Amino acid sequence: MVTVMELYQLLPRTNCKLCGEATCMAFAVGLLSRKKNISECTPLLEENFKKQKEILESLLLPTKGAEETGMIVHPELCTGCGNCVVACPVDVANDPHGAGIGRAPTNDKVIFKVVEGKVVASNIKECRRFGKNRVLCYACIDPCPVGAIEFV
Ligand code: SF4
Ligand code: SF4
Ligand code: SF4
Repeated sequence: MVTVMELYQLLPRTNCKLCGEATCMAFAVGLLSRKKNISECTPLLEENFKKQKEILESLLLPTKGAEETGMIVHPELCTGCGNCVVACPVDVANDPHGAGIGRAPTNDKVIFKVVEGKVVASNIKECRRFGKNRVLCYACIDPCPVGAIEFV
């Protein structure tokens, strides 16, 4: 589970306020709650922070690319139960050799996977909430026992 302190340690820690927050610690809190995006800390774009930026992106990976749908996945809450993986209609569609026989979905559009005990979202443009003809699908939200998935 990533913590505010871990995120904070990877920031420039100059309290320059360019991100709109008064301190780097406040920005770290914003990152953890998904109210802030890594790109808002412009000093992180400098070459000498390249490595820290990559680590931050990997720590926050579960929501990478999810902005288009408003999806927020809270890895700190996720228990890796896998309910959302098999509840998402995109994950289980056309998958006779995976979800169709009770295994992890294998189709190439899979949105949710559990990696090292935490859910990771990818292929986010396949989500039914994405795009002009979007549908207000709740199939992944309702079965999550800990409220780790939300849409804003
Ligand atoms: S822009 Fe980055 S370095 Fe500056 S206060 Fe915000 S988090 Fe800290
Ligand atoms: S909203 Fe529906 S389509 Fe989108 S990830 Fe959740 S279950 Fe899948
Ligand atoms: S249903 Fe919730 S707790 Fe279970 S894997 Fe999905 S996000 Fe994590």
